[in-house]
Amino acid sequence: MGRMADRSRDASEGPARTAGGRRVCYGRLMPHPMDAYFAPPDGRLFACFPGAEVRPGQARMAALVFNAILEGAERREAWRDSGSEPEAKPDAVIQAVEAGTGTGKSLGYLVPALASEARPVIVATRTKQLQRQLLEEDAPRAMGILGRDLKCVLAKGRANYLCKAAWEALQASPPAELSIPDHGLWMALPAWAEDTLQGDREELARHGEGESELWDKVNARAERCTGKQCAHYEACFLTKLRQEVLEADLVVVNHALLLADRVLRESAFGSVLPDAPVLVVDEAHDLEEQLTDSCAEAWSSRAMALLFRDLRDEGAKDPGAALLDTLMLPWEDAWARLLALVPLESAVFGFDDPRLPLGALADAVGDWVGAGQEVLKEARRLAASKAEADPSALVWRKLAERVGLAFARMEQIFAQPEGWVSTLAREGPHTVLFKANPVDVKPFFHQHLRRGFETVVLTSATLRDGRGFNGLRLRLGLTEAEGERAEHVESPFDFERQGLLFVPPGLPERRAGRDGVGEPAWVEASLDAMTRLLKASRGRALLLFTSRKMLAHFKPRLASACPGITFFTQGEGLGRQALLDRFRKTPNAALLGLASFWQGVDLPGDALSLVVITALPFAPPDDPVLQARIREADAQRQGLGFIGIQVPQMTLKLKQGLGRLIRTTTDRGVVAILDPRLMLPTEDPSGKRYAAQVRAALPPFPLTRDWDEVETFFTGL
Ligand code: SF4
Repeated sequence: MGRMADRSRDASEGPARTAGGRRVCYGRLMPHPMDAYFAPPDGRLFACFPGAEVRPGQARMAALVFNAILEGAERREAWRDSGSEPEAKPDAVIQAVEAGTGTGKSLGYLVPALASEARPVIVATRTKQLQRQLLEEDAPRAMGILGRDLKCVLAKGRANYLCKAAWEALQASPPAELSIPDHGLWMALPAWAEDTLQGDREELARHGEGESELWDKVNARAERCTGKQCAHYEACFLTKLRQEVLEADLVVVNHALLLADRVLRESAFGSVLPDAPVLVVDEAHDLEEQLTDSCAEAWSSRAMALLFRDLRDEGAKDPGAALLDTLMLPWEDAWARLLALVPLESAVFGFDDPRLPLGALADAVGDWVGAGQEVLKEARRLAASKAEADPSALVWRKLAERVGLAFARMEQIFAQPEGWVSTLAREGPHTVLFKANPVDVKPFFHQHLRRGFETVVLTSATLRDGRGFNGLRLRLGLTEAEGERAEHVESPFDFERQGLLFVPPGLPERRAGRDGVGEPAWVEASLDAMTRLLKASRGRALLLFTSRKMLAHFKPRLASACPGITFFTQGEGLGRQALLDRFRKTPNAALLGLASFWQGVDLPGDALSLVVITALPFAPPDDPVLQARIREADAQRQGLGFIGIQVPQMTLKLKQGLGRLIRTTTDRGVVAILDPRLMLPTEDPSGKRYAAQVRAALPPFPLTRDWDEVETFFTGL
């Protein structure tokens, strides 16, 4: 397999520019400002970290990011100087950079962004691990390199913080009963609430991290915050956070908060994040998915339960709210009747799915809205009955707004507007999620990101599919010019020496079918292949599955076929970090993971020498949003749906999976892909002509189909 084409250009290429009144030269033969930090041997990186590896990809990325920031500032300055109308405000400069694993991309964007005059810089990541790494490791390193102290803040969604007003109210009237997992939290809350400086629930992580009825009662959710009318406003953790964020040089957030904040700033609830000139979206490979989620209209059984509870709690405190209690009952009953119509099977249903009794559901929504109108009227009446300065007036107004919002969302979801796909998802026995998902996220990318910043950097180890940046361009609606300036910067790893890509010979096609596992012939052949690989590697393996059923089928059979290996499985009690720690410390271990383990797992060194990809990770073809996108693409050009959407999406995920193996220049190992579709000839008669394209997009590991070569490789480790 050939090496990927090197599209990177000389870091010093390009015209001289001016920005902010400074002349900055990055013309050919002129040094680039980033050389002061990244050029060996005298760049500050090497002075601060003697022995640091020379990474040309990192230096190139820093130059690209710095240039984009200057260009964005220059565009904005020209617009301000011209006194043009607000509508003529220029779009952000969009710079996409695919930085292969090991490039050191965090410093590749932090140093140029923080060296520029742009403040604050917002960095959005998908995973908590990367947020932690940015705050604890990369930002301090960047400060060392820049020789400056900078203020870095991690901002989370409001529900992560304690609401002092809600906590005070709960202490005055403690909950009559608590769920078993909430007991520990209830015991820990008083001392913690007294001492905490940030009010961040993560400080209480040993008392549970997931859903908690108790935490829901005391968190700083926007919908019940009374803002400046609250007696605790000055001391509120959110007020302090907003202040810190305003003074920060670097604000780290997750994608969901970034996007929710951009959407919220157009609504009455306001936002936490400040206006910022520069946004870096790291882990940008699934930005389309994040935009779909954040811009969807959604209503859920959980949101409804919270609203019922908030109404009842407020009613219990208000002597004038006796009628509300009576009105709530028929409304709650109507909701229960609606939920009873949802199939019990955990799945995502499109509204054209024959398993959904759509007519009956729509009638039930009508009944629920009808019964709720009385509650809405009563909440409005209670709000109007209070003096304006009475905080409970605002609380009732906000409750009434939430009731109205619930109706509006459900009505929109059931109206199935054009350009949106309505879905109903059951996620376990008690959770139902109604959603209208945008088919096309390009307008949202434009509105919330391109129009909202001077410069937007999109980066990830996996932005290119088999057709380069074309897929990213089509998904986000990047212009041709934005697509052309996108670059791949090389990983410093020597994949040809450090690893092997192995597709076992003689495997039949899997054909998952309805059972989600595969044809018996593939199952048996794959079990033999996994067993042989695990014995050759002596464990030290990550096995990535594409379905829960598949993992559940293989796990016991692998355990009995490989008695010397300790198996750890995602979703069996231990949290992600604890599971990774246990795996790392256990000799001859194998870790079996699902979707979330295809990315963000970082296991450098001897702990990991084998990654097994059980099947090419195509998204489930019955996903209603995917189906709608495929239909739309097919309508534009026949066949574009599969080759233009499913294959690129799968390729990015496959690259993420492969990226788990080599994490440092000394790591060595094998990636085995148990899906023979990867080897289909270019002219495959079944029309699956994507294999060569996919192979070309992967890191350039030598490809083998020879068991002897693989086993010899492992004996050399
Ligand atoms: S300002 Fe809002 S979030 Fe803060 S304590 Fe008051 S009600 Fe709670």
